[in-house]
Amino acid sequence: MFVIPEREPDKRIQRLKDEGVHLYSFSMLSTINQCLYDAWATYVAHDRGLSSAYAEMGTCLHEITEDVISGTAQTSDMPHALKEGLVNIDMLGLNFPKDFRGEDSIRTRWIADMEHFCKTFYPPKGEYDVEKLLIYRISPTRAIRGYADLIRKNADGTVSVFDLKTSSNYKQEDLLEHGRQLTIYGMALEQEGYTVKSTAWIMMKYVELRYDWYATKRSKAKTPLVKVVNRSKIYGTLREPVLAACRSAGMDEPDIDIAMMDFANTNIMSDQFPEEVRGLFSIKPYVRNYPFTKELKEEALAYIDRTADLYESLDQNQDEPWPSRTISKDCEFFCHMLCGHRNTCPHIKEYDRLNAIPDVPELSDDDLF
Ligand code: SF4
Repeated sequence: MFVIPEREPDKRIQRLKDEGVHLYSFSMLSTINQCLYDAWATYVAHDRGLSSAYAEMGTCLHEITEDVISGTAQTSDMPHALKEGLVNIDMLGLNFPKDFRGEDSIRTRWIADMEHFCKTFYPPKGEYDVEKLLIYRISPTRAIRGYADLIRKNADGTVSVFDLKTSSNYKQEDLLEHGRQLTIYGMALEQEGYTVKSTAWIMMKYVELRYDWYATKRSKAKTPLVKVVNRSKIYGTLREPVLAACRSAGMDEPDIDIAMMDFANTNIMSDQFPEEVRGLFSIKPYVRNYPFTKELKEEALAYIDRTADLYESLDQNQDEPWPSRTISKDCEFFCHMLCGHRNTCPHIKEYDRLNAIPDVPELSDDDLF
């Protein structure tokens, strides 16, 4: 049984509120930038809206992973926590999106990745602060707060910031937007007097594979390869090199078949493979480093100020909604699946009405002939 810690109200937050400081969070800044209607509904009209399958499952996996790292839960609790999370979203009526065929392959793949994470996770080395409240004071009237998932206290007195992510890996063009959260956490730690060594995401759906194999079909020699793949695709990626390694190690074909079948079912190289085979393949959680630089800190500061200027310039009237984002194909998914106001927002309703495929009247035999 694992224990879910309650977040204690922090005195520092209350003091800032008493001083009349405008307090922002990273998600609040993102919401203001993405859709002012969403920001108005959430922060002015105080309607938090609906959760989503991704948000609920993300919280569930953050909690159990942090509990394991802080020692209040065991790794063996993780698969059960995942199952409970899935039962919970079913009870709440929250769904993963359907694929283009209207089927559940997105949910199936997400669960396969996370089951693998829960079965193979082990606490990282070192000493960690878990879910630490960080506050960065930007000016006498503004501050930003957030909870850093993991802060490692390094042996040289520096700290490293890690954020757990259950989302898909970030595209290069979206890095700046996602990276600001890490940058802001690092800046908050610097303001507390720490030296920040590094900032990174732990992308929970992925692993980093290292092994020697042919880089392309035409390659004549094996070279060291590094690949980041979904956890559910480990077997598919390593099948050929593992088979070749088994044969080179002199394993009998029936033993190879049994070990490979288990690998195909679990994506885990179990001890049915001899150590001399397993030792050729490094399969580690994917830690994606993000640079912590002066330029990125300046950019994050400008972003916070720009966003806060906009927010504070708008009429904070509960009866006067702010305009929505321009809805297009690019953000349809967010509006339909992730936005807390997806069921009440008039703008997405209007967009859907305008873009609905017109009803095609059913043809009768009379129409055909
Ligand atoms: S559904 Fe889209 S347009 Fe409506 S509030 Fe949410 S993000 Fe904004």
